[in-house]
Amino acid sequence: MAGSSATLWMEKLFKVLVIGDQGVGKSSIVLRYVNKRFDERYKASIGVDFGLKTIEWDRQTVVRLQLWDIAGQERFKKMSRVYYRGAMGAVVVFDMTNSSTLEAAAEWKQDLDSKVSLDSGRPVPAVLLANKCDIIGRDRDLVSSLDGFCKDNSFAGWFETSAKDNINIDEAGAFLVKQMMLCDTSLSAEEYHRDVIKVSQAPEESQSQSLCCWSPRL
Ligand code: GDP
Ligand code: MG
Repeated sequence: MAGSSATLWMEKLFKVLVIGDQGVGKSSIVLRYVNKRFDERYKASIGVDFGLKTIEWDRQTVVRLQLWDIAGQERFKKMSRVYYRGAMGAVVVFDMTNSSTLEAAAEWKQDLDSKVSLDSGRPVPAVLLANKCDIIGRDRDLVSSLDGFCKDNSFAGWFETSAKDNINIDEAGAFLVKQMMLCDTSLSAEEYHRDVIKVSQAPEESQSQSLCCWSPRL
């Protein structure tokens, strides 16, 4: 370890589920968020894809998001408990051009809440993404209904997003991290110190993606 300017970092790892119907843009959102690109031909593999997003949250804290993108399992409309276990946040995506995917988002949220919760018993923070806003622009009726939808379904908030045009993806990610940090107050001092690691230099800004495939038993 070269260099004398050692910095104290607290590292936080959050497992985040990315759920919603097939075709709404989940994999594209992960690809945009982690790899900063969009590819219409991008096809996620079958099983679960993992994206790792590293954020320098503040001067002391590095946040690592392990994004679990269901790939090809949306047709079951629900996931096994094994998949949800340990999740500390969720991104529920729907397609603004397809209203049935919004109804499905409510079902995905119910499935999530029935299978995982915080230690306190409260639902894990979830953000709703109204994706593909580049296609239809701002839909006033939809937008005005989403506040109520979020309240009824216990979402922490919602964003209009476009993975294609890179609209609100980072903002939604930061919002969710903030919500997860607020819920993450139960760390004991011991855990706190275990989380603190010493590194000789700041971690790189750039993100890496580790892609592998795992098919949980349903
Ligand atoms: P998934 O099945 O939910 O993972 O959805 P994909 O990420 O595979 O996206 C499904 C289709 O929607 C693909 O053809 C994408 O190129 C397209 N798509 C995803 N996000 C956007 C977006 O923000 N805008 C537009 N116009 N197309 C998108
Ligand atoms: Mg996908």
